[in-house]
Amino acid sequence: MGKYRLAVISGDGIGPEVVAEAVKVLKKVGETYHHEFEFREVLMGGAAYDACGTCFPEETLEICKQSDSVILGAVGGPKWDSLPGDERPEKALLKIRSGLGLYANLRPAIMHRALSEACPIKQEIIGDSFDIMVVRELTGGIYFGDRGYRTGRYGEEAFDTESYSEFEIRRIARIAYDTAMARKKKLVSVDKANVLESSRLWRKIVTEMNAEYPEVEVSHMYVDNAAMQLVRNPGQFDVIVTSNMFGDILSDEASMITGSIGMLPSASLGEGAFGMYEPIHGSAPDIAGQNKANPIAAILSMAMLLRYSFGLKEEADAVERAVTEVLEAGYRTADIAKAGETATGTKEMGARIVDRI
Ligand code: NAD
Repeated sequence: MGKYRLAVISGDGIGPEVVAEAVKVLKKVGETYHHEFEFREVLMGGAAYDACGTCFPEETLEICKQSDSVILGAVGGPKWDSLPGDERPEKALLKIRSGLGLYANLRPAIMHRALSEACPIKQEIIGDSFDIMVVRELTGGIYFGDRGYRTGRYGEEAFDTESYSEFEIRRIARIAYDTAMARKKKLVSVDKANVLESSRLWRKIVTEMNAEYPEVEVSHMYVDNAAMQLVRNPGQFDVIVTSNMFGDILSDEASMITGSIGMLPSASLGEGAFGMYEPIHGSAPDIAGQNKANPIAAILSMAMLLRYSFGLKEEADAVERAVTEVLEAGYRTADIAKAGETATGTKEMGARIVDRI
């Protein structure tokens, strides 16, 4: 029996709706497998701005640091879009990732057999199913590099800088190699080494580290080719490792080919067992408060939490199995339902998954 403390950031829009279902799933796991989960709700994003005038209260980071891991819904929405860049909810996301030292983002893109009709790619291309893990560097590269404005020859110029240290590349590559070892042992490192110096260092270090993981078959792909291969033959990929910006784009592309953004979880990891777990989707203001959101991405994020931070494999498998069973039984939220099919609401979908754990 384990005892685990979790900081819960429900956030904005559909965040609180999907997190509520994820928390119910963890409570059921606790009852079934005799673990104790303690939840502490903390504010971030628009909800925090409305309550205390900042999207990232200091207390939030402190409570997260005192917890064993963090559960996040989603933040942001039109209500806060006019705030200055540095005060916006989305900036709080960058701050919490770097404040908690979460430098690796793991995003599985799995197409469930039961949902193959929701995939926008022809069946003969994708086959029965695919299962890709994108490992994205999260606290370096162009999103964190030097930036600014200057006056150039042709007037005002803006610049952003892509920069990676050997240390940053090594630690993300290690997570990718370890992830590949636990899967099919195939790693594709994505870069733009034909143009970028930072990519050439990236490629050199990933190649060198292969000596420590001789069982892993590693290959390199330019990002433009990777974007194409993902829609041409997604089944060729097992684990992909890439930089912050390339990973941002490719993981969204990988999620789209699975059929729905409402299905995909993510984990952000640093040193040790601590992690932050969240669905990949945003706050979906267009459907917020209507019991329409798909809670499966948030629920599968709990399976990742159990697996990666708490080492509870059996419990993680039970959550994933419950999701598969509910889909195979034909339940669909509106985002994955076929035209004319009756959609299951957020709460009912959550309850049906809980029942099967
Ligand atoms: P979004 O992911 O919120 O929504 C895109 C589309 O997908 C919408 O049509 C939405 O209804 C649908 N959708 C998303 N999640 C769904 C779910 N669980 N079930 C059913 N349908 C779902 O992306 P967006 O519209 O670009 O962004 C909305 C807000 O969320 C913005 O303020 C954005 O900055 C923010 N955002 C936050 C995060 C985060 O907190 N990690 C991530 C992305 C976007």
